[in-house]
Amino acid sequence: MQRINRRDFLIYGTGTLATMLTLTGCLPKDIKTQAYVSEVNMPNIDFLECDYLIHKGLIIDGTNSQPFEGDIAIKGDRIIKIARSIAGKNCEIIDARGKIVSPGFIDIHTHTEDYMVHNGRSEMMLLQGVTAQIGGNCGNSKVKIGSVLDNLNGMGINYGMFSGYREIRRSVVGNANLRPNGAQMQAMLDMLQENLQAGAFGFSVALEYWPQSFATTDEIVELSYLLAEYGGFLSVHVRDEGDRVIPAVEEIIEIGFRAKVPVQYSHIKAAHRKNWGKMEKILELLSEARDSGLDIKADVYGYNFSSNDLGDSSYCSISDEDLEMALTHPQVMIASDSGLKVNGAAIHPRAYGNYPRIIAQYARNKSLLSIETLIHKMTAMPASRLGLADRGRLLEGYKADIAVFDLNNINDEATRQQTTLYSKGVQSVFVNGNLAVNNGIVTGTPTGEVLRNSTKG
Ligand SMILES: [Zn+2]
Repeated sequence: MQRINRRDFLIYGTGTLATMLTLTGCLPKDIKTQAYVSEVNMPNIDFLECDYLIHKGLIIDGTNSQPFEGDIAIKGDRIIKIARSIAGKNCEIIDARGKIVSPGFIDIHTHTEDYMVHNGRSEMMLLQGVTAQIGGNCGNSKVKIGSVLDNLNGMGINYGMFSGYREIRRSVVGNANLRPNGAQMQAMLDMLQENLQAGAFGFSVALEYWPQSFATTDEIVELSYLLAEYGGFLSVHVRDEGDRVIPAVEEIIEIGFRAKVPVQYSHIKAAHRKNWGKMEKILELLSEARDSGLDIKADVYGYNFSSNDLGDSSYCSISDEDLEMALTHPQVMIASDSGLKVNGAAIHPRAYGNYPRIIAQYARNKSLLSIETLIHKMTAMPASRLGLADRGRLLEGYKADIAVFDLNNINDEATRQQTTLYSKGVQSVFVNGNLAVNNGIVTGTPTGEVLRNSTKG
């Protein structure tokens, strides 16, 4: 039985209670479960009123702690109690026996802006266990994101944004290879500031892509100074992901130190066969920078081919060894880098499969890293990077963004050829305390909220 209605719970729930009491020695063993149906006879037991009770799952709380079996009670949009066993009252039971219960996944790197504005149901993300996404990466956002955020509605997941550099720079400097003068610099700073005030989590730039590629190191440093004031960070696609990837990584480290801002290195990779093996050096640079005091982290997706590789049906520009090395590094978190068209079409399967794929391939099949470490990289680690104070962990008082999935059966289905096949194995998903996926079916409840950076300077 996957789910039990409230009436049935009287019997089911008191069965649990009787078991618990037997274990604690409070009741004789031979008393039948039915005898405890009425709460009136149980004056000493505190029944907890809740909306949902996730029963007996293997709880992985997002902090990289040991999993434990227990119950989680949800009321309104919050987790109200987590315990080995909870005696609930009027709670709808979600039977999680044999399943993992974790915080919903927080995808810090996406390109789903148009989709979220025009559609936003996000079935493909919910069925991966994703409950929040951050868009506007790689410099891709409108000049003003405040009105975009204000007009989002009907979303299946929570959504926030970066202020991207591409359109800001184009609107002021144009597409030519020119340095901004003082007045232009000030105009761009004003635009960035307006977006940070509107709730942008930071500033995103793709130094590899025209015309952002015309931006110098100094220019990015000057703009990034502003981030510290708003508790924001720099999300950066490096100037070169291939032959010159090492100097490109050195450049973003320099920017971080000079502007004194946290740096998020987007979709870390060493692209093309002749650069395979450079990941070791890249990760060394990240560790050294961290040891010298820079808050630098990276994100990675779980595929050995990028969206640039899709023209050729079999080309893979990323080495599996490099990918695995990145996945296990303590400064690397998981993100999807997914893009979606308005109608949900995708050019790369990662928009439909990234999270189940990584769990299945690397925690279950290969045991490359423990499930709790991997979940940490999908939840509390991105939440902490974003400064989300009440998401990314299973903790009393936190928002009830929760995924329940079967480790034995979770799998991605989307492929290079068929990019839009839904992932399998996610049983239930809560977004802000509402059931967004129930028994593997998306409920369609528009339960997502707009996320805004709250650590204002
Ligand atoms: Zn990028």
